[in-house]
Amino acid sequence: MKTLNLGYPRIGSERELKWASEAYWAGKISLEDLIETGKRIRRGNWLLQKEQGVDLIPCNDFSFYDHVLDTACMFGMIPKEYEVVPEPLDRYFAMARGDQRYGLSALKMTKWWDTNYHYIVPKPGQKLQLVPYKLLEEVEEAKALGINVKPVIIGPYTFCYLSKMEDRLEEIIPLYVQLLHILAEKDIQYVQMDEPVLGVREDLNFSWAYDTFARENSAIKIILANYFEGYGKNAHWILDLPVDTLHLDLVRSPYQSFELLSKNSDKNFSLGLIDGRNVWKSDMKTLVSQVERAIQLVGRERLFLAPSCSLIHVPCDLDLETDLDIKSSLAFAKQKLEELQTLKAHFNGDLIDLLAFDRQKTETSEVQNKVYALTLEDERRSEPFDVRNPKQKAFFDLPPLPTTTIGSFPQTTEIRKLRANLKKGEISLSTYEEILKEETRKLIKWQEDIGLDVLVHGEFERTDMVEYFGELLDGFAFTQKGWVQSYGSRCVKPPIIFGDVKRKADMTVKWSAFAQSCTSKWVKGMLTGPVTILQWSFVRTDQSRRDTCLQIALALREEVLALEKAGIRIIQVDEPGLREGLPLRKENIRTYLEWATRAFRVATSGVEPETQIHTHMCYAHFREILPAIISLDADVITLECARAPQELLNTFKEEPYPYEIGPGVYDIHSPRIPHKEEMSQCIAEALKVVPKDRLWVNPDCGLKTRKWTEVEPALKQMVAAARSFR
Ligand code: GLN
Ligand code: ZN
Repeated sequence: MKTLNLGYPRIGSERELKWASEAYWAGKISLEDLIETGKRIRRGNWLLQKEQGVDLIPCNDFSFYDHVLDTACMFGMIPKEYEVVPEPLDRYFAMARGDQRYGLSALKMTKWWDTNYHYIVPKPGQKLQLVPYKLLEEVEEAKALGINVKPVIIGPYTFCYLSKMEDRLEEIIPLYVQLLHILAEKDIQYVQMDEPVLGVREDLNFSWAYDTFARENSAIKIILANYFEGYGKNAHWILDLPVDTLHLDLVRSPYQSFELLSKNSDKNFSLGLIDGRNVWKSDMKTLVSQVERAIQLVGRERLFLAPSCSLIHVPCDLDLETDLDIKSSLAFAKQKLEELQTLKAHFNGDLIDLLAFDRQKTETSEVQNKVYALTLEDERRSEPFDVRNPKQKAFFDLPPLPTTTIGSFPQTTEIRKLRANLKKGEISLSTYEEILKEETRKLIKWQEDIGLDVLVHGEFERTDMVEYFGELLDGFAFTQKGWVQSYGSRCVKPPIIFGDVKRKADMTVKWSAFAQSCTSKWVKGMLTGPVTILQWSFVRTDQSRRDTCLQIALALREEVLALEKAGIRIIQVDEPGLREGLPLRKENIRTYLEWATRAFRVATSGVEPETQIHTHMCYAHFREILPAIISLDADVITLECARAPQELLNTFKEEPYPYEIGPGVYDIHSPRIPHKEEMSQCIAEALKVVPKDRLWVNPDCGLKTRKWTEVEPALKQMVAAARSFR
């Protein structure tokens, strides 16, 4: 029995890549140092996988920022404006994150399928050419370690789909052929072509491209990898595709194995058995019986055992956790490979105690009953928007085009240190709170001084918008080092929801109320929405995601009411996770949106008509979920769209948005400081489709990751831009 792995986390178990990249961007280490860090991580990963007995070990799953951008660069897709940057890696980073030195802004970024990983959307335009140095270097490096790796390449259909250049397949296929030739010369035996587009599109037919590969290249065996969904209706033609192996995500779509394996074909199959999207230990007995059935159908020679998808979506190593009660129920990337090895050993005749892999069971309680008892009344504001909006206008008395921010302000090293010191017990809670209060007071004063209209407390007390709430709620567990890459050097540490979610006490009231006490302007309370908390956590699998989400909603509802009672009358409930939770298959979208929007309404609808509910979302492509966003019944929405404003505004040309809205006027993900004129331009564009009494002016996301030197001029100019329209 053989095993394969689709991809391994590339950030390093101590986030080495993050530290090195950020140090390099800050001019603190040299390019050579950064490159060396990359090499070290790759070497470590390969050796680890070798040790775990993985038969087909991936390469090119490493990336200095993003694997889609790597692929774009491999096909020479470097827009003209970036050519001014001389050093290739700097040019690559300029595309990924903008570069102030050259006045370059970043390319668009968006969610990788239904994960919390973000990729850079390549910009087609120029002539394509093959520039495969990164990939070939990795092949050579691995060879030097005595490992004959299996390169991972985004397949042509998926790449063209993600780059919105499906009309250019004919141009790109010869480059793939050329690449396969080069790899064959390097004695590469297997190439993994990732085609997750198969999970979302059922109207495709790949034959042409893959026929060409087979005709031109008999030496290399192609493993076609589809994940996050089953092959669906594609199952009827996929078996005729001239590839060596089909990879099946049996976690998301367990039944497809029967469907595909029972048909007559010459294919080998990679059984994606171990969950690459969640942190729970596998239930070995179930896996064993799944494999046994597959063996009956096609024989063991035609099978690979594998994780369901690349392991970049789970943390690196559970062994690093020293303080985690539920540790015995969990498995991270390294442990998942151990599971794979165990499974392999079992089928190769070793005696394995499968019961030793049993998962700890979770318990349920009365929260579940509250979820069942929810009625329509619990998800409806007492008055409709048309009635409550004039009341709010009178109550808040804000100027036209009110200015605000999305919540967080730069988290300086001092603040991070402070929080770390509190955790280590080096400072007392009261010292910590005093210092944070001082920061908040200063921030409120600063916002007043520059003339913002609706202020925020700055979120200095939060490491992360989900972790903060998870730590205060029942039912969540936390890791110390369970980092997962979100984009570039940004990592998140998702909490683990293992039990029923309950609110124990106030979570944000103290900070919001304190901030409000510092000013006569309105301070906006700041909560993370139920769908986002769910989406950015690892979720228990013993009850539906819907039920877990509604439990979170009930807890947040109590917090919203507590804020209102404390005099916080503008409350923002962030839901950047709503769009990314969207099922990949069309037929599942409706049910998801029904419970997801319901959870938001349960959380927010209990307030007085004058209390204004805001929501915020990132990177959304709104057209497809606009009805769902409208159904949230939020009084104001702020949106991230500075990297692609026109797309959003066109949507509203067709169908006016019925609530107040603040389409972000500048891109906070780039260190570049925007000019006042650019922001005025954004406002002018927005005013063409949004009535003046409905428009807000704000950056397009939280400012946590920016520096003060960037935020100060940007926000001052944003206020000036807004004022020029009043
Ligand atoms: N309120 C959050 C912040 O400003 C929102 C972040 C987000 O949308 N991702 O940090
Ligand atoms: Zn955002």
